[in-house]
Amino acid sequence: MADLNVFVDGTWLLVQCGAGGSLANSTDTPDRRFPLDFSRLNSALLEHVRVNWQCDGIGECYISTSIFTLPHGFDDWPTQYVDITQEQVEKAKKAVAAREAFVRSAARAGYKQDAVFRPPIRDYIIRKLADRKYQEKQVDTSVVALLVKAAITKAGDFHAVVTGDSDILPAVRVAYPEFTKNVFVTTTHPDELNARHRQTAFSLVEFQFDVPPFYMQNKENAVQIIEGNHAYRCEECGLVFSQPRPVPARQRPRCRNHRPARVAP
Ligand SMILES: [Zn+2]
Repeated sequence: MADLNVFVDGTWLLVQCGAGGSLANSTDTPDRRFPLDFSRLNSALLEHVRVNWQCDGIGECYISTSIFTLPHGFDDWPTQYVDITQEQVEKAKKAVAAREAFVRSAARAGYKQDAVFRPPIRDYIIRKLADRKYQEKQVDTSVVALLVKAAITKAGDFHAVVTGDSDILPAVRVAYPEFTKNVFVTTTHPDELNARHRQTAFSLVEFQFDVPPFYMQNKENAVQIIEGNHAYRCEECGLVFSQPRPVPARQRPRCRNHRPARVAP
């Protein structure tokens, strides 16, 4: 029996889902958040492995990120600190809410939160955020540690790491290929990235894992991981969209840009 374990760098993945991110750009509404369905992501990854290997089901799943804990009285900070604005407070609250919602949706699909950290926010952090000087660690080392542990203790399983950061590679080399050859990356294709990140992303996808990378933003993959029971690719442009009702059997799926204008009755 071999299972597929999934390790998600949640901070990175949330950026890909955000408006203008690589996943949002695969849809006909690039200015909106990509509604990722973690259960469908797991199914798509399982299918990806099953093309060439025997894999029975989903094993352990972890998501990592850090979410600021906002203190009681956070709303009063603009009156307490002369250089903290109401706008900064609202922005921090919005960012926390977005991450909480993201982690909740992962939890509904069975993801464990052992690698979700909730440090208290501090006034100096608000100032750094405002100056864009706050450096968030790209990958939480904890999720990489969980991956390496699983790769060593469950060598017969498969292990997907969802990230765009090649900083995971030194840690992964501890387990690969000595203990297991069943590790693979789930990422976005480096061609999608700006020059600054492309180099590191190429070292990630060019690492010779036996299982090929799964590129989430490829439209044939994005359509498999978007929320909703009726997800399609536009027959004209290939962009992904999801709608509450199925496309009628006699019609072809068309995105909002290629749908014929409705004639008023
Ligand atoms: Zn289209």
